[in-house]
Amino acid sequence: MPGGRPSRANPEEILMSTPFRLLIDGALVEGASLLPVVNPALGTPFADAPRADAALLEQAVAAANRAFPAWAARPWAERAAIVGALGDAVEARADDFARLLTQEQGKPLAEAQSEVAGTVHGFRWYAQQTLPPKVLRENERERIVEHHVPLGVVAAITPWNVPVLLLLRDIVPALLAGNTVVAKPSEHTPLSSLALGRALADIFPAGVLNILAGGKELGAELTRHPDVAKVTFTGSVRGGKAVAAQTAGDLKRVSLELGGNDAAIVLADAPVEKVARALFEAAFFNAGQICFAVKRVYAARAVFAPLVAALAALADAARPGPGLDPASTLGPLTTREQFDRVRALVADALAHGAVLHQGQAPLPAEGYFHAPTIVTGIGKGVALVDEEQFGPVLPVIPFDDVEEAIAAANDTPFGLGGSVWSADVAQAARIVQRLDVGYGWVNQHARPFPAAPGGGHKWSGIGYRGGRIGYDEYVALQVVDAVPLA
Ligand code: NAD
Repeated sequence: MPGGRPSRANPEEILMSTPFRLLIDGALVEGASLLPVVNPALGTPFADAPRADAALLEQAVAAANRAFPAWAARPWAERAAIVGALGDAVEARADDFARLLTQEQGKPLAEAQSEVAGTVHGFRWYAQQTLPPKVLRENERERIVEHHVPLGVVAAITPWNVPVLLLLRDIVPALLAGNTVVAKPSEHTPLSSLALGRALADIFPAGVLNILAGGKELGAELTRHPDVAKVTFTGSVRGGKAVAAQTAGDLKRVSLELGGNDAAIVLADAPVEKVARALFEAAFFNAGQICFAVKRVYAARAVFAPLVAALAALADAARPGPGLDPASTLGPLTTREQFDRVRALVADALAHGAVLHQGQAPLPAEGYFHAPTIVTGIGKGVALVDEEQFGPVLPVIPFDDVEEAIAAANDTPFGLGGSVWSADVAQAARIVQRLDVGYGWVNQHARPFPAAPGGGHKWSGIGYRGGRIGYDEYVALQVVDAVPLA
């Protein structure tokens, strides 16, 4: 059956050579059925992805399992050379990737270009890393060496908000460490991952990297598969809890990178205009659909009113529109479900007495566009403050005492990131350390840096991505202690 046939597709718009295919055992194959992919700027399907079923999943896991021993046995430098070639392959088509990404995910083209550039940078950074054995003791009688051994088949499950970069962040360290991979991107944004599979198909030995498309059920089957040794999951807390339960019976290794409700605390001495610009960027980039986006602002009473005014002016200056239009500065929400959720959170906030400071630029008639919105008049106990909104809506809450702000920032089951903004950097650094988060910033928020490990506290995750420690997620330690006979 013709999985991946570009029905509804306008080839001029899709740009990457259609049809899309799954990558299984080194071959680009059709799906069992079609998975329509919606362009969120229009709210209608614009292409079909091939959807994998249980039989194709079985083939992919079997291929990864077969390929594992030979891939694991290769010297690190050979694997690193292949990963370096991946960076080149993506860079050579960076513009095509960015345009495809914008069409399926919605972000403005400039943001998509920066996601693809970050992906290429990430490939290159990872390709330079090594995990050499460590000699723990060496003398005439004994040699004790700590080795890192790969785990086997890694299942990489990724979300829709930053699909290209997040896929790279999982698969590259997993592959470099000697594992083989079966990846399942989000059902909402599978095309950029499948295009990545097509670009990489000839670079890897068959079976080392397999890319499937499908929904939650396919993801659940993949996590339960007895030949999958490790699951690396990026997504919602709800999805992460489900994966933890699905893998518990088999005691699989699991890394979870989940949601956040990052707070930014603005002290009374902070320069308002400058801080407003940086906060706006950190809250509204990708229409707020970033795990590390600023999702709550706590502002000292002295700067609260001018900060709200400055943020509201920026909301007014934003230009919501289709990502391929160079005039657009804010894209749509990526899915209908997320669009409905954000609107419901705003309605609920209004019912709790919220005041909205909304950008007045007209919204396109079609698609999942939401006006950039600054919200005041609400606090703890309202879902927009307590939960992860994942949209272009930012609550700003005044405080009188910084202890109050620290307590409020920490009063959440999330613990991904947080920031403190002040002219006094040392004081802000002391305060940010009191936030119960995996990543704290001063006078900035969510600046990516591949050498730094990122991971969440509390519900925001288990394990780390990035940095040297990021490799530990994909290896087991093996200590070999050798002594002569007698
Ligand atoms: P989601 O949990 O709905 O889905 C994520 C992926 O998991 C998708 O591929 C989905 O098909 C799959 N999936 C869902 N349920 C599953 C199950 N039971 N078993 C196996 N696979 C399953 O999340 P989403 O809505 O796609 O993504 C948004 C969320 O991701 C937000 O909460 C955001 O904060 C979080 N996120 C976290 C990070 C991070 O690094 N911490 C990065 C990006 C996004």
